[in-house]
Amino acid sequence: MKITAIETSVVALPFTMGGPHPSFAGQPWTHLEILLVKVETEDGLVGWGEAFGHAAIATTKAAIDSILAPLMIGRDASDINALNRSILHSVHLLGRNGAFVYGYAGIEIALWDLLGKRTGLPIWRLLGGSSPSRLDAYASLLNYGDLDLVVRNTKAACAAGYRAIKLHETTRAAVLAAKTAAHEVTGHADTAIMLDLNCAWLPPKAHAMAASLAQDGLTWLEEPVWPPEDVDGLASLRRHGIPLSAGENVAGLFGFKTLIDAGAIDIAQPSVTKLGGISEMVRIIHLCQANAIAVAPHSPYFGPGFIATLHIAAALVEQPMIEVLWLDMEANPFDPWVRAQNGTIAVPHGPGLGCDPDPVILARYAKGEITRTSQRRDV
Ligand SMILES: [Mg+2]
Repeated sequence: MKITAIETSVVALPFTMGGPHPSFAGQPWTHLEILLVKVETEDGLVGWGEAFGHAAIATTKAAIDSILAPLMIGRDASDINALNRSILHSVHLLGRNGAFVYGYAGIEIALWDLLGKRTGLPIWRLLGGSSPSRLDAYASLLNYGDLDLVVRNTKAACAAGYRAIKLHETTRAAVLAAKTAAHEVTGHADTAIMLDLNCAWLPPKAHAMAASLAQDGLTWLEEPVWPPEDVDGLASLRRHGIPLSAGENVAGLFGFKTLIDAGAIDIAQPSVTKLGGISEMVRIIHLCQANAIAVAPHSPYFGPGFIATLHIAAALVEQPMIEVLWLDMEANPFDPWVRAQNGTIAVPHGPGLGCDPDPVILARYAKGEITRTSQRRDV
């Protein structure tokens, strides 16, 4: 079924985060912005996707509107494997990790939504999964840089039912404070605590910190090393015995192969809106399975990118924990599917992604113009 139009739009959702709003990539982070991609086919079906995202939205949107969308018009929406190959080959000179791959991820997720709607099956079924129950989630706390806020938000997340907490802090004191806070709320010491550094340290500092954290029982230490391409620096940290995770800044299947071949990770964190979409993420998961590497998806998203992650996870035999950012949105066009309850999250059972956005919420929180592309451009 031919693609007739692609639209990009942005919604900006007010949110609270248990502390002051930070800046992100040099910009104040006051709203959750979602870059939505809508793909239409000649039979009138509509698929939805989400492309990364955050401070890069204007760039990613321009990549879709100017280059990617015109390449897609007139192509068969169901021919996902061939489109992945040909479109990403067409733009590979423009970067293998960045706006064009992020943009294509949004389109590709929409193609899977369309395929599910056309066949009447949810994406987890198309991926070979059986009827899923709820998935375990972990609370991904934001960076507070304030121990009192670490304690307050850890307690609140535990009280909300989470039994796994990820910190975005840079001190051992924060880890110990979170462990104590979780223990106080749950009455036991088995809440999983993870620490995400977002590539904060050069290897010498990372070694010193990993040595100090070695006996603290972290479930994983995430992206401790700058830059993220320093796979040997990351691999050298494994001698401290803390499970290492990374992958949200890696380019596709071969980026993960590089991490795995270097012996750099125990846990892979593929990110569906960044690495090109559902098909590439499934390939990466298979690679990880063949190398005894666990998978914990990177999913700080609030639209089809998050829901696609749920479908991918639900299709697996060993289902990973789902990352849910610890914040509260005023509203979301994909409610209730983007919210955890009691530390778990439901998986939609409807065709495709299993949920379309609420048009009233979309209109209420729209930011900027909708860009519609319906003219084909050949390579
Ligand atoms: Mg991270």
